[in-house]
Amino acid sequence: MAVTIAMRGYRAVLGALIVASSALVFTAAGWAGLESLRGQRNLAQLEELSGQLLQRAELAIDYAVITLGDYTAPSNDLCNIEALRTLRQQTFVRGAIKDIAVLAPDGQLMCSTAPAQFDLLTSGSARLAEYESRNTSIVLQPSHTEGSGLFRVLWRIGETHSIAATLNIDMLMFDIFPAQLRDEALAEIRIGPGDVVARFGDEASTAPSQTARAFSAASDRYPVSVALATSQTSFRNWNPWPLGPVLAIGAIAGALIGLLVAQTVMRPPSPVEALRSAIRRGELVPYYQPVFDLVTLRIVGCEVLVRWRRRDGELVFPDRFIPIAEASGLIVPMTERLVEQALSEMAPLLVEHPEFKIAFNIDPSHLVQPGFLDTLDQIVAQAGSPNSRIVLELTERNAFPDMKQAVAVTSEARKRGYRISQDDTGAGHNGLGHIQDLKPDVIKIDKKFIDVAGTVEAADAIIEVLVNLGQRMGAVVVAEGIETEDQRATLSRAGVAQGQGYLISRPVPLATFRALINDLERLAKPAKNDPQMA
Ligand code: C2E
Ligand code: CA
Ligand code: CA
Repeated sequence: MAVTIAMRGYRAVLGALIVASSALVFTAAGWAGLESLRGQRNLAQLEELSGQLLQRAELAIDYAVITLGDYTAPSNDLCNIEALRTLRQQTFVRGAIKDIAVLAPDGQLMCSTAPAQFDLLTSGSARLAEYESRNTSIVLQPSHTEGSGLFRVLWRIGETHSIAATLNIDMLMFDIFPAQLRDEALAEIRIGPGDVVARFGDEASTAPSQTARAFSAASDRYPVSVALATSQTSFRNWNPWPLGPVLAIGAIAGALIGLLVAQTVMRPPSPVEALRSAIRRGELVPYYQPVFDLVTLRIVGCEVLVRWRRRDGELVFPDRFIPIAEASGLIVPMTERLVEQALSEMAPLLVEHPEFKIAFNIDPSHLVQPGFLDTLDQIVAQAGSPNSRIVLELTERNAFPDMKQAVAVTSEARKRGYRISQDDTGAGHNGLGHIQDLKPDVIKIDKKFIDVAGTVEAADAIIEVLVNLGQRMGAVVVAEGIETEDQRATLSRAGVAQGQGYLISRPVPLATFRALINDLERLAKPAKNDPQMA
């Protein structure tokens, strides 16, 4: 009982462990999957961000080009006061444009709406680097000061002059940057191969060793490009999934799957599987019920009756598993092991009592299996017992599948020295016809006649018939299930020679059986021909 409870506890703990570990694994796997998705999402968003930044830079240049376009007619005298005033008004309304200037072919300033801005850009040196756009008349010129936000869009109009807009890209350009990235990201707008016009963010945080991701986008219309980099940590921590719900979903899904797994893994084994492993583990053990002389009460043999002694100590009776063993074919290995075990533990007793017979129940389907007798011979020989000590009791819950074969095997068995017993005679399939065919050495009268012996006329008549039949055929008649002294006396008077039953003993393990033999030896009544019996 205690073992059963312990086993249940163990299964419950195991089940809980499976469910918990599945929940854990699924949460972790789900989390890892989501993290990888998050990585991809962050990647795509940062690429898009650099694209948007480039678009903004292009737009600012587009504005400048459009503005300049108004003044490109060669007839315009741009440097007269009136024209400059109009230009100044223009620059005032166009956000990024700080100055519009007219330049000589050598780059010298001819006139400007805001000369101070012009100076700021060139920092004293008039000559700036020039990078041509797809439209080669339009040239971009970064300022001498890196990251100042200042650069120039120059339109080469002709031999006489160029017109140029000074632009200042301020930090508003970068306002599309997500807040979480601001601290640890670096964005640059560049002109030409590497002149940084505007910079946003912390250069140190994206030093090469720390840089996790770098993105760039280049315009195909202007010599302008955008470079974006973000540190390992900020890339990893950006856009986190809501931790609680994600973990909860992972854990619930995992637990549900774990439950299914636990149910499958811990499904109790099928009865056949359970029996198979019980046979393998040697849990099927022989019990012995004495067969005694009805007159002397001396034990003349025994019937081996199988018991399933489970690991938890429970003793299972054959009616619970013999039908399964027969239907599944496990009856064959079961019987073989039982014969092996019984003969090996009975060996000394068989030596001590030379007349002692040991009976095994043999299922008809087993009897007619090819090689049945050869295997039996081997087992019996290995135990060192002569075949003549062994009785094959043909139980007939099931009909003989092949009567001809059964007759052949029993006759061969007898030739090899085994004794044949017909079990449960008068009940089930075991009729008188079988006695004629199988010619048993022992006829066991079924318990249902013994139960009413001496009280029901018909039962007594049947017993009488079987006793006569036994005498005619030279078979020993054995009565099963004798529970009372009255039954014993009635049967003995009727001429039944031997019996089995609770009157003497239930089936018991070998040690008890041995003790019983010794007790009965001492108490044994004198034999029939003893003068005291008369
Ligand atoms: P069975 O071969 O007819 O065995 C006699 C059954 O009657 C046994 O039940 C035995 O314990 C019981 N019995 C004996 N004396 C008395 C009695 O005085 N009163 C009552 N009420 N019962 C008594 P058990 O051991 O439960 O076995 C039941 C059946 O299971 C057996 O009937 C036999 O058909 C089958 N069986 C048992 N062991 C084996 C085996 O090793 N192989 C095969 N094939 N069948 C077995
Ligand atoms: Ca039997
Ligand atoms: Ca029987």
